[in-house]
Amino acid sequence: MTWEERWHPLREEWVIVAAHRQDRPWSGNTMASDETNLPDHDADCYLCPGNRRVSGAINPEYAKTFVFDNDHPCVSRAAPAKLPPTPAIYQNRPANGVARVVCYSPIHNLTLAELDVDDIVELLKIWQSQYRELAALPEIAHVLIFENKGVTVGVSNPHPHCQIYATNFVFQTIEKEAQVSDRHLRETGRILFQDILEAEQSDDRRIIIANESAIAFIPYFARYAYEVFVAPKETHESLADLCAAELRDFASVLKVVVVKFDNLWRMPFPYVMTLHQAPADGRNYSGFHFHIEFHPPLRKPNLIKYLAGPEIGGGNFLSDTSPEQKAEELRALPDVHYKLRDNGRSKPVGE
Ligand SMILES: [Zn+2]
Ligand SMILES: [Zn+2]
Repeated sequence: MTWEERWHPLREEWVIVAAHRQDRPWSGNTMASDETNLPDHDADCYLCPGNRRVSGAINPEYAKTFVFDNDHPCVSRAAPAKLPPTPAIYQNRPANGVARVVCYSPIHNLTLAELDVDDIVELLKIWQSQYRELAALPEIAHVLIFENKGVTVGVSNPHPHCQIYATNFVFQTIEKEAQVSDRHLRETGRILFQDILEAEQSDDRRIIIANESAIAFIPYFARYAYEVFVAPKETHESLADLCAAELRDFASVLKVVVVKFDNLWRMPFPYVMTLHQAPADGRNYSGFHFHIEFHPPLRKPNLIKYLAGPEIGGGNFLSDTSPEQKAEELRALPDVHYKLRDNGRSKPVGE
């Protein structure tokens, strides 16, 4: 039995680690796996090349990545400026911003884990240019780039893609990280994330993979079973500041992480992947260290980590697993994708 609480220095909150709960009996729902036998091109997919989208636009016969404005944007530069008045205690304002979609490749079934490192580098360059372009818009305070992957996190279209929300406000998680990083820098003269990297490197048990300039690890204070951070070793405020060599190292580490995820249960591994980049509101964020965070919803094959009383009701996480054990599991896995090892034949989980 473990009854331990760990402090999350980026969110400034306690995480309860109760690893003995992982094997408690479960008679509730289990999640369906994602479809593994998808075609290379799907005539009904609104992201495949040459197909018609809901807006009526026809996708070009793109060869690498494809970026377009979301047909159902949650924020828009065309948001009406006039809104209904509110009582004094309430506030509202136009949801001003830009929402885009980035298809990783023209191939309907080629996930991030199956792209080769060169293609991932190209994708990172697209994220860099999108960040630069959108961050430069006067009304944009932040650029959130994220991928929701798998039916478990509510994705209806399996064609590998990510989304970009460039908004007139800074998302809460980033705002908090920016605040605590800034305070840490003022109080100690050090970069908070560098102190985290130093702690992880001196412990070493939770590091998944590292190379010259990039590193991936399950943090000491992880909230999810397979929560992985991927970061450059040098501090940069955003992905846009990485040089060519760092970009390549970062792509290699990112690739190994997503391959290991799929290899874990020999199935496409669902996750929410978010780029944590400094706000783009013109202030100084020299204490902010760009990184990617993966929040995979599953703690066992087909068994979701439900967010309930502690998380939704109380606002703190109860982790059912030990970060050290989960990191050991991921470290032990091969870094070649199981589909490649099977010579292109994929087998369902459990076979
Ligand atoms: Zn498609
Ligand atoms: Zn973060």
